[in-house]
Amino acid sequence: MSKLVLWDVDHTLIETGGVGSEVFKDAFEQVTGRKIDRLADVTGRTEQVIFRETLEMFGIEDPGDYFPEFVQAQAAGYRARADEMRRRGRALPGAREALAALAELPHIIQTVLSGNPRPSAVGKLRVFGLDDVLDLDSGAYGTDDPVRLNLVGIARRRAARRHRVTFTEETTIVIGDTTRDVEAALKGGAQLIAVASGRTPAERLRAAGAATVFPDLLDTTAIVHAITTTR
Ligand SMILES: [Mg+2]
Repeated sequence: MSKLVLWDVDHTLIETGGVGSEVFKDAFEQVTGRKIDRLADVTGRTEQVIFRETLEMFGIEDPGDYFPEFVQAQAAGYRARADEMRRRGRALPGAREALAALAELPHIIQTVLSGNPRPSAVGKLRVFGLDDVLDLDSGAYGTDDPVRLNLVGIARRRAARRHRVTFTEETTIVIGDTTRDVEAALKGGAQLIAVASGRTPAERLRAAGAATVFPDLLDTTAIVHAITTTR
């Protein structure tokens, strides 16, 4: 039975070490002409929502074409600061090993479910050398839909088209670090593995409905076992 594994990016596979919010602020300023010192809450949210709320915080009512321009500026910002992100950020412990172990299993398709715009998600993964083993064209991104739980169905349809396999709620697995990943899986139609490697403690992930919570991705065998036996 084939399974579709949907990895969250930020704080599940990688951390930017603060470069992400600096790139956001720079891209925001480039596009709107407004210099900002803060942005809306980012945890587990899609970039369209973060961007729109940040516009509102600074009294910009009409988003116009700002978002597509912002997506380009943000991706360029990540490209320009790749070396810096490699220095300040990191692939989370165990992420590389878990991805590599799953890549060995022929019945596993693994990709990304991220609130990031696609170019930024791909750029970040590339910096840490994690893009190769992911089927990025099967993924769903913040540029596809502002509502995170809708991304599950989008990824499932893309993966089905590409691999000619139907993925169901039982054979789709979201792996993420926030209660919004939990919600996306439970309401969007997927199994869930939570990782308490971000800012959300394990108890809160459990309270949100996560039955399986790992402290991190370090135990490759246990992670692979959880993915292959989840139903
Ligand atoms: Mg995350």
